[in-house]
Amino acid sequence: MTERIGIVGAGIVGLAIAQALARTGDFDVTVLEKEARVATHQTGHNSGVVHAGLYYQPGSLKAELCARGRAQIREYCREHSLPYRETGKLVVALNGDEVPRLDEIERRSRFNAVPGLARLSVERLRDIEPHAAGVAALHSPHTAVVDYAAIAETMANQIRKAGGRVLLNQEVTAVQTSAGACLVSTAGTTHAFDRLVVCAGLHSDTIAKLVGASDSPRILPFRGEYWSLAPERNELVRGMIYPVPDPAFPFLGVHFTRGVYDEIHVGPNAVPALAREGYSWGRISVRDTWESLRWPGAGKLARDHWRMGGKEIAASVYKPLYFKAAQAFIPELRPSDLTHRTTAGVRAQAWARDGSLLDDFAVDQVGPVTVLRNAPSPAATSSMAIAEHVLSRYLGIQP
Ligand SMILES: Cc1cc2nc3c(=O)[nH]c(=O)nc-3n(C[C@H](O)[C@H](O)[C@H](O)COP(=O)(O)OP(=O)(O)OC[C@H]3O[C@@H](n4cnc5c(N)ncnc54)[C@H](O)[C@@H]3O)c2cc1C
Repeated sequence: MTERIGIVGAGIVGLAIAQALARTGDFDVTVLEKEARVATHQTGHNSGVVHAGLYYQPGSLKAELCARGRAQIREYCREHSLPYRETGKLVVALNGDEVPRLDEIERRSRFNAVPGLARLSVERLRDIEPHAAGVAALHSPHTAVVDYAAIAETMANQIRKAGGRVLLNQEVTAVQTSAGACLVSTAGTTHAFDRLVVCAGLHSDTIAKLVGASDSPRILPFRGEYWSLAPERNELVRGMIYPVPDPAFPFLGVHFTRGVYDEIHVGPNAVPALAREGYSWGRISVRDTWESLRWPGAGKLARDHWRMGGKEIAASVYKPLYFKAAQAFIPELRPSDLTHRTTAGVRAQAWARDGSLLDDFAVDQVGPVTVLRNAPSPAATSSMAIAEHVLSRYLGIQP
């Protein structure tokens, strides 16, 4: 009998895995998604950047899979006539204090063989982004932008074409594993699989618990909020302008991105979300918030990041502070140039019992179930390489 493999979650990671399996022609593949459409959460609410691998610890899964994934996404977009634009990215040091951290990013980038990377003087920096501030910069000309939701839709269609199923409105509420098989319950239906792969993003820890995996790491949801730049001021940004990130924090800092449809967004920041799907301060889940507060690592996280956290929250609720942080990179920016907030995204950040935030991608195996425990940025860029990694390392299948 053909082996039945179930995938929980129709974000880009679950779909990339399902697509890789369906393409082999050897498996009966079913994706179960709780929402009414694919890419409803992180995959449909991100910056749309195809990262070139600048920041990642040499030797990490992120470094390896981002490099491979970037090339695969580029090829996939070409093959399916999806938009892919190499607008290029600058990482800008605003002052001398930031230069040693820029040096470290350059060291990592060279180790990770980021294509075309260049260290720029102030003059060259202005040739590339004439309105940017800064005393030094790194330029990554092959960093690109795409529409990840469109890529996910295409993957879903490819899975169906290859004979697989992408079933929507199917929230997984229970999983029973016995003698190498999995019975997966959704409202009114039970699906039987030989193996299961869980790519549930903001809910990956909840499902991990259902299958008997460790309760650590749990997911700490971090919202990323964006402002839109007035279209008549679009000439202020040609490609992407990023800050030098704080190495103690797993996020890249508020940046300017010209999207694939030429819209320019400013952000995302990183504030704690008060619900797993807390897309605004008004969306509160008492249960999610209480579970975060009583997690053993909560005290350490608060002690380590209270200063940064306080600044991010203040800028989230008081626009002049958000504006000031952005204007440091483009001195000509005016408050009225940030016209309105666009849809925020919520990052599924894995958080260990000791309070540390996991940096690298992480996968657990529990009997016949493979669980993606941490797939933060650049997991959209890396999705097709993550799929190959999961197939070969955890499922024992050559993609
Ligand atoms: C603000 C922001 C900016 C980002 N920018 C970038 C970027 O520029 N470049 C980049 O590479 N990455 C970026 N990322 C990261 C990237 O978006 C994610 O790493 C990637 O989308 C993760 O994909 P996923 O499939 O694991 O998760 P998701 O897209 O969140 O998909 C998980 C799916 O599982 C479903 N699900 C959950 N529970 C259940 C259940 N019980 N039953 C059935 N289905 C369930 C959910 O509904 C969801 O559709 C960003 C993320 C955010 C939030």
